[in-house]
Amino acid sequence: MATALAQTRPLDLLADFPAIPTGWAYLDTAATAQKPRAVIDAITRAYDTTYATVHRGVYQRSADMTLAYEAARKRVARFIGAASADEIVFVRGATEGINLVAQCLGAINRDSPYFLGAGDRILLSQLEHHSNIVPWQLLRDRTGVAIDVVPLTADGRIDLDAAEAMLTPAHKLVAFAHVSNVLGSVLDAKRAAAMAHRVGAKLLLDGCQAVPRLPVDVTEIGCDFYVFSAHKLYGPTGFGVLWAKGEILDAMPPWQGGGAMIDRVTFARTTYAPPPARFEAGTPHIVGALGLHAAIDYVEAIGLDAIHAHEAALVRMTRERLGAINSVRLFGPDDSAGIVSFAVEGVHPHDVGTILDEERVAIRAGHHCAQPLMDALGVPATARASFGVYNSAADVDALARGIERVTRIFG
Ligand code: PMP
Repeated sequence: MATALAQTRPLDLLADFPAIPTGWAYLDTAATAQKPRAVIDAITRAYDTTYATVHRGVYQRSADMTLAYEAARKRVARFIGAASADEIVFVRGATEGINLVAQCLGAINRDSPYFLGAGDRILLSQLEHHSNIVPWQLLRDRTGVAIDVVPLTADGRIDLDAAEAMLTPAHKLVAFAHVSNVLGSVLDAKRAAAMAHRVGAKLLLDGCQAVPRLPVDVTEIGCDFYVFSAHKLYGPTGFGVLWAKGEILDAMPPWQGGGAMIDRVTFARTTYAPPPARFEAGTPHIVGALGLHAAIDYVEAIGLDAIHAHEAALVRMTRERLGAINSVRLFGPDDSAGIVSFAVEGVHPHDVGTILDEERVAIRAGHHCAQPLMDALGVPATARASFGVYNSAADVDALARGIERVTRIFG
């Protein structure tokens, strides 16, 4: 059973994660990752010893904290292959990043090539997380922009042949998940960027499930926007990243007003700071940036290729073990990145989750904020096991034994 992992030298990092007790199989990393000691220490150290505000203080402590905060921005830029740290906007998470883009592109000068309004079309896919659907619907309701939806292939990928056939010069934006949070299917992001650009559209990638699992280089991909949340990358909650090409950020108007995003304020007229400050109104989540910095250092020290191989082996093992149980239906492709959704015939996924919890196995059961995908799969919900660097073959074993118990209980 352990052969798949043995071939790829399994990671052995459980000891780095103080909140995972012995014998507990935490298989809900796609919802949020547990935190390594290095991230906890970076956050604690900041509040314990170095804490102060950023960008405004005239005293040394604040200047040092500003340097640390901006060092995190540079670290993020390097991590995702951005051309400049000025292209990195700190946000609360992927959800806020996508809302920011939707609101700004709807409010941009009408003559701008980036403007989205009546007569323009946006292309989404059937597997998107609600946070890559609803912000566009809000924009549609406000401006009259139209939304088209790409179907999936039989094995649960965004059907790029269909996307290519659907794209027209009216499409100004394509917004796809880089990795599906339900099926784990990985997008051919380079191809998506090329086909969007062929019709003059921009490509936004929702990288929430990709950055913890794959090496990501936005320049190599050729996309125009990329968003992710720190908490799925072993960092803190309430923090995330929007990357966009510099010329697009330059053209975008502010979306929230307040301190830190201005150049000069008078009651008659206010002028705004250049990006990224223009999009960061108010005192930021200072320590969030430091936590993300530590998280990036942590995953890069392991290596994203090694993490990907580790999770791929766990996925293969899971699909093999669960696939051998008659009443289990597996969703998604065999080469999914770290995420396996499944159903046990005749058993509601919530019951599956509850019984697994008794076995000290934590999975997610529900629609995973992807109700249109559930509709396409023809189920109200799925059970989902998702992996992180701390998981091992023993966790897959515990999951498989738990599912066998579920099938015994429900006959
Ligand atoms: N997109 C995907 C693919 C996700 O998995 C998630 C989180 N489940 C989100 C967007 C939203 O992220 P957050 O709630 O951290 O903003």
